[in-house]
Amino acid sequence: MKNKLVIDPNIKSWIDYPSNTHFPIQNLPFGIFSNHDNTRRVCTIIGDTVIDIHELYRCVALQNIKTKKFIKDLLLNDYCNDLFSEGKELIRALRSQIVELFEEKNKKHYERLIRTALNNIKDVNLHIPIKIPNYTDFYSSREHATNVGIMFRDPANALFPNWLHIPIGYHGRASSIIISGTDIKRPAGQIVLKENEAPIYSKSKQLDFELEMAFVVSKENKLGEPISCDQAEDFIQGLSLFNDWSARDIQRWEYVPLGPFLGKNFASTISPWIVDLDALEPFRTEGPIQDPKPLEYLSQTGKNNFDIKLEVYINDSLVSESNTKYLYWSIKQQLAHHTVNGCNMQIGDLCASGTISGPSASSFGSMLELAWKGTKPITLNDGSQRVFLQDGDRIRMTAFAENSNYRIGFGEATATILP
Ligand code: MN
Repeated sequence: MKNKLVIDPNIKSWIDYPSNTHFPIQNLPFGIFSNHDNTRRVCTIIGDTVIDIHELYRCVALQNIKTKKFIKDLLLNDYCNDLFSEGKELIRALRSQIVELFEEKNKKHYERLIRTALNNIKDVNLHIPIKIPNYTDFYSSREHATNVGIMFRDPANALFPNWLHIPIGYHGRASSIIISGTDIKRPAGQIVLKENEAPIYSKSKQLDFELEMAFVVSKENKLGEPISCDQAEDFIQGLSLFNDWSARDIQRWEYVPLGPFLGKNFASTISPWIVDLDALEPFRTEGPIQDPKPLEYLSQTGKNNFDIKLEVYINDSLVSESNTKYLYWSIKQQLAHHTVNGCNMQIGDLCASGTISGPSASSFGSMLELAWKGTKPITLNDGSQRVFLQDGDRIRMTAFAENSNYRIGFGEATATILP
């Protein structure tokens, strides 16, 4: 824990970027890109410049990070999994060498040498950064769980009795997780139009988004060996922005008694960048007070939440502003709970937070809540109204942490709905 790499806020890069960029030199997230030759490889980004890390090695032979073979295998790779599996110390060494190459004061030394590693973001394709063996979705926002409980169950007992004791979650489907920019098709399935009527086969009429953050597992535990809260962040590389698309009508009919299934697994959108936990270190904050006190294996101290602003736009109308800090259960607690029974995590496993709703109506993280089960339509900038999403709607989520020095951003998780 003591060796976290927090990059000096005063360092500037010789790559120009505006002060509100998501990607100052203090961020250096990991992603996967390809350009004209269609070879996928590991990259990072400063401003609008996508940096081919393998090419950096070729140009300047970044030092002291193992062998050439190693570098080739890890960086000329379709996914970041193999790189992450080398461990956090290697990632820290890599990120700190990249800082050195791109620091303003070293411009004369390196700019010409590493020119061929630089690509404008407009000229590249970004791909899903990790191969995801398993995907889990939690339900960690108290406000979201309470809103859903009020709408569908009992306003006086909105939370189920287990909710304040357990980070609730379910196993989702990894194969349909897609990179930002990929359009999604409106799903079809069984829906019930009126209560107590028979189901029909239909396109979903209640397509929704869920505003979430997800963490990426970068270290394995053995089957039968739980990860403690204290160890948990050693097993997590970073965070990404995540949209857990949901067909509410399909979900409502199918979820009893085993939980979400086809109402969820038709698509989930992930942003292109894995933002390192180290880069988020300056944005730590305490989470909500947990009462009742969780069981010992879930006990944590210190600042375990992150102050990350979240926004959702429908066709460029801002419809929600939330924040990761509202989450009741921290990522440490989610991972400790996930493995308390001995469940073994795999490198690249993705664990999403659940819909992140805040206390105010403008901070709710789904259409279900924003339009309150269809009873309060929201009005977009063009005057049109929505209770759920329409074909052609473009949903754009964005996230960034911010202080007086810089922003650490996640880019976007965006998709357009096709009929
Ligand atoms: Mn969800």
